[in-house]
Amino acid sequence: MSPINARFWRVLPLMSPINAGLSRLSLSTETAGELQPADDPGLKKRKKRDKSHKSGKSVSVCSGSSKRKSTDPTGHGRAVENIKLQSRPIASSRVKFPLLTEKPRYTTKLIDIGANLLGYGTPVFPDIDSVVRQAAESGVGDIVIIGATIPVSKQAQTLLSSQPDSGPEELTGAATARCSLHFMAGCHPHKASDFARDGGRPALRDVIMAANQGQCIAVGECGLDYKYLSSPEDVQKAVFREHLELAVELQKPLFLHERGAHNDFIDLLSPYIPRLPTAESACIHCFTGNWEQLQTYLDLGCSIGITGWIAGSHKSAVVAALRTAGWERLRDRLMIESDAPSLLPKYIMPTKPESQYEKNVPANLPYVCCALAWILKVDPEEVAKATTENARRIFLNVIPENGL
Ligand SMILES: [Zn+2]
Repeated sequence: MSPINARFWRVLPLMSPINAGLSRLSLSTETAGELQPADDPGLKKRKKRDKSHKSGKSVSVCSGSSKRKSTDPTGHGRAVENIKLQSRPIASSRVKFPLLTEKPRYTTKLIDIGANLLGYGTPVFPDIDSVVRQAAESGVGDIVIIGATIPVSKQAQTLLSSQPDSGPEELTGAATARCSLHFMAGCHPHKASDFARDGGRPALRDVIMAANQGQCIAVGECGLDYKYLSSPEDVQKAVFREHLELAVELQKPLFLHERGAHNDFIDLLSPYIPRLPTAESACIHCFTGNWEQLQTYLDLGCSIGITGWIAGSHKSAVVAALRTAGWERLRDRLMIESDAPSLLPKYIMPTKPESQYEKNVPANLPYVCCALAWILKVDPEEVAKATTENARRIFLNVIPENGL
């Protein structure tokens, strides 16, 4: 474990021996570090706004299913031989994050495996170049642009094809200010109703095939979202299947979204996992679930994407899930993502923004890494190194130098 750079960790006095490494700190935050509602007058307001927010919306789903009494760890009655019963999950945990004075920096360059730089087609960032430059200056080496719809995927492909070729370290993407851009092609479940109109699987295949080599690194965003049902369930399922088939056909990883649809999601995904390049090619993006759900994903071999959602409010179920799994089990499965412009990692930022719904940018990814490290009680540099290695292996298809 490498020492933590204390310059970036102005932590509470009682945690002063930070250079000893986070794993040696006592971080029983169930009560001690908890932010009480009284400390946060904006919480009530934000809870109300949660209902209309795109991504921070699975709290009720998670807490609901975590209370379900079941002898089946998958919770959906599926016979899965390799699902192992685990010890009882760690009790619900809340976290008070360290007080940072500035943005953390790591020796390892980070990889943002999912950023909505092009939104759903309506520009969210008027100047993408400056967003990318800011990310590069913050130690982000690669950004993967999410394909939220087929037209957006096409837009991403066009954007990258116009980018200059990159240097030796960025062989696969288009480098801007030493930050390499990639994209994925897909259709978010919210937009599943538009999939057929936009050309369906053939159009998506065309976008992927038109990309320069290595630039389109995954199929996605795709999956199921029953939380808001922006598209009907049956349409979502059919469109999700199209993505799964395409990923198998082209042997691409998947960037997967699931909210409030866990059982259907697992039923649809599971048969495809053995047909993907590897099981970890199925990345559960922005994991916000509980321990049962995490266990199911891990036992299926999936990789897990973590966003600033974990540091956006009091995310007790997901914290408990991650801690129950533990770093040793998660080390080779985790990746980090900004999911910009959503999911600002508000509670770990030195200056807490007024609203957690302020526009998020990939340059905030170092905070996500830091929050994840704090939750898992691991050296942040270790988390940076592991998540980057995982993203390079799973998404960028880069084989580590040691051949492992
Ligand atoms: Zn998503």
